[in-house]
Amino acid sequence: MVPTMGALHDGHLSLVRAAGKPTVVVSIFVNPTQFAPHEDFDTYPRNLDGDLAKLKTIGAPIVFAPTPREMYPEGFSTSVTVGGPSVGLETDFRPHFFAGVATVVAKLLLAALPDVAVFGEKDYQQLLVVKRLVRDLNIPTGIIGAPIAREADGLAMSSRNTYLDARERTIAAGLNKVLRFAAGRARSGGDLRDAEAMAMAELKGVGFDSVDYVAIRDAETLMLTDDPKRPLRLLAAAKIGKTRLIDNMAI
Ligand code: AMP
Repeated sequence: MVPTMGALHDGHLSLVRAAGKPTVVVSIFVNPTQFAPHEDFDTYPRNLDGDLAKLKTIGAPIVFAPTPREMYPEGFSTSVTVGGPSVGLETDFRPHFFAGVATVVAKLLLAALPDVAVFGEKDYQQLLVVKRLVRDLNIPTGIIGAPIAREADGLAMSSRNTYLDARERTIAAGLNKVLRFAAGRARSGGDLRDAEAMAMAELKGVGFDSVDYVAIRDAETLMLTDDPKRPLRLLAAAKIGKTRLIDNMAI
């Protein structure tokens, strides 16, 4: 299974390929419970016909595109809260987000009971939260993380990139460039907190209006660590105008 919110791009299609299974269910559902009232639920791009056409080109056979009422019937009252990797980072800025994600992913996986479900490393914290969710609730599905699909200039593909005008699109490419510099500094033994602070300043320097976070964390737990033996991940979120972009990479 490949859960998505639609407005499909090549990143989504790469997940279908990564599933490596003859039968893949792609779900398309803009999940209202993971948006806060001030966020972009109403304006989030929706293009079911275009999505179905793209999926046809790669032979994805089964699409599940429920309505909000089907997923959340009258009286729906359950919310799944995951701890561990959901603490901090995205949660500091979108406190409602992972409960919405965990609830809808639990419902989708229990409805389809797939052997495997593929999630993009684009949403790295989400991937770890989903892995924690299936382990903690004994959901019998293997979770596969797939690499980030990028545009030629490094910008991670995202349905929200369509919000960017030409000037903002140029600035957006700076996110990946700045993170690659920061990862290089960290890899060559630079102080991790200095690398974070420099990257934050550089993002503002290349035109981002605000930076939610730039953080180097333990790649498996997202906890702060200075242990050189642990795998590390650099994660960031920043805004250009109203558009919020995220990116991450291994150190
Ligand atoms: P979304 O429709 O944005 O909720 O994303 C659905 C799934 O596609 C999630 O598992 C995302 O992490 C994944 N995804 C989105 N963009 C990319 C990308 N550029 N590369 C790889 N996976 C992606």
